[in-house]
Amino acid sequence: MTSADFSTGPLYAPRAKVYPQSVAGTFRNIKWTLMAFCLGVYYFLPFVRWDRGPGASSQAVLIDFPHRRFYFFFIEIWPQEVYYFTGLLIIAAMALFLMNAIGGRLWCGYLCPQTIWTDLFYAVERLIEGDRREQMRKAAGPITLRRAGELVAKHGIWLIIAWWTGGAWVLYFADAPTLVRDLATGQAPAVAYISIAVLTFTTYTLAGFMREQVCVYMCPWPRIQAALTDEWALNVTYRSDRGEPRSSVKKSNELRAQGLPAGDCIDCLQCVAVCPTGVDIRDGAQLGCIQCGLCIDACDTVMSKVGRPTGLIGYDTEVNLNRRREGKAAIYRLVRPRTAIYVGIILMTGAVMLYSLLTRSVLDINVLHDRNPLFVTLADGSIRNAYTVRLLNKLGDARTVRLEVDGLPGAEVHVVGPEAAAAGHPLIAVGPDQTREVRVLVTAPSEAQLERSTALVFRVADLAGGRAAVAQDHFIAR
Ligand code: SF4
Ligand code: SF4
Repeated sequence: MTSADFSTGPLYAPRAKVYPQSVAGTFRNIKWTLMAFCLGVYYFLPFVRWDRGPGASSQAVLIDFPHRRFYFFFIEIWPQEVYYFTGLLIIAAMALFLMNAIGGRLWCGYLCPQTIWTDLFYAVERLIEGDRREQMRKAAGPITLRRAGELVAKHGIWLIIAWWTGGAWVLYFADAPTLVRDLATGQAPAVAYISIAVLTFTTYTLAGFMREQVCVYMCPWPRIQAALTDEWALNVTYRSDRGEPRSSVKKSNELRAQGLPAGDCIDCLQCVAVCPTGVDIRDGAQLGCIQCGLCIDACDTVMSKVGRPTGLIGYDTEVNLNRRREGKAAIYRLVRPRTAIYVGIILMTGAVMLYSLLTRSVLDINVLHDRNPLFVTLADGSIRNAYTVRLLNKLGDARTVRLEVDGLPGAEVHVVGPEAAAAGHPLIAVGPDQTREVRVLVTAPSEAQLERSTALVFRVADLAGGRAAVAQDHFIAR
């Protein structure tokens, strides 16, 4: 590249600060409702209790790293069951694709944390500094004492929200009431304070300063979404077939009176003024549009005032835009192969997860054969193999299980340590909600006719009930 190329203009445009104007209407109300619901869930869920019996955590949603458990109301996931998270990720991805196929960037416009917290920060800003025009006037003016007070109040409230957001996050990783007390008395672990500090900083920065830039430049979803959408997806659309040619109210009335074509758009720019990303929806679909629907509310208000039908901007499809231009009626197709496939995968994955949750064992056994040595020949000619047996008791009560090993007639089974035995079978005690590892020795008599490798079945049965679990391994003789 030569210096001449640089002289044609800057390589990037500096950010033009966006001052979105407040707006009232259906979509604004939907956004307020969803914001209140999502923030309410996020901030207060850690304090919801769920009785799991004595000794177990009573927090409804908890990621318990020290005990390696994830609790979600009646569901308790052990480390061996992380595949449930794979299922959840599949469902989340398909739900995102489905939203996109039906209503475009529904996630971005209504549910994304970046959108929700930015919206909250905008609300605080308007409360303190006034609406769009006032903010723009103040930003261009000098810093008076009153202005400095407003800035301190705004940033102070933002920081409190950001700190509260970080504080709520760490409550998902420990018993919330206890952690709140420890945080207040300075006795919480350092990682809790560090996490809160990091999240306070990121929330304050992302929602207070970076705002729409996160959506436009940082987030990969708009790019992926653009590749996944089709002409039947409902997107926030300026109905150019109805809006153009745009002109003032007076001019368009004159044109209509003369029988000349006049669009409904009066070029008032209200749709641009309310846009949180500062785009003009009349320029067509664009990456910067998070499809929050606020320009629909703004335009509907304008249309009502000038006595034209609402819906100049609305959720519509590319197909309908073209059909109306050809004078055909609009058609909508929510059920199509891609939506059916997404719903099918969500239902199938959900059903598999539910079935596996409802039928999963609360007693489990894993067996690991010693690698070195594979076997030991004892002085009397008998052969011994050693195994590490891990028992999982997923119930809230202690239990004793009987261990049987099938596949090697005449073999002796012995658990290293002071375990009891009944009728030649070791009895192993496992505490409530615990994993226990024991060393098990299986000894084949010297007269046994042994293959090089013999399949064994390790079976544990709960003495108090009918619960049982099995695992397989081999007995190695040469
Ligand atoms: S709000 Fe409606 S009428 Fe006003 S500029 Fe936007 S599309 Fe045109
Ligand atoms: S153009 Fe409309 S829908 Fe898109 S981000 Fe702006 S206000 Fe929201």
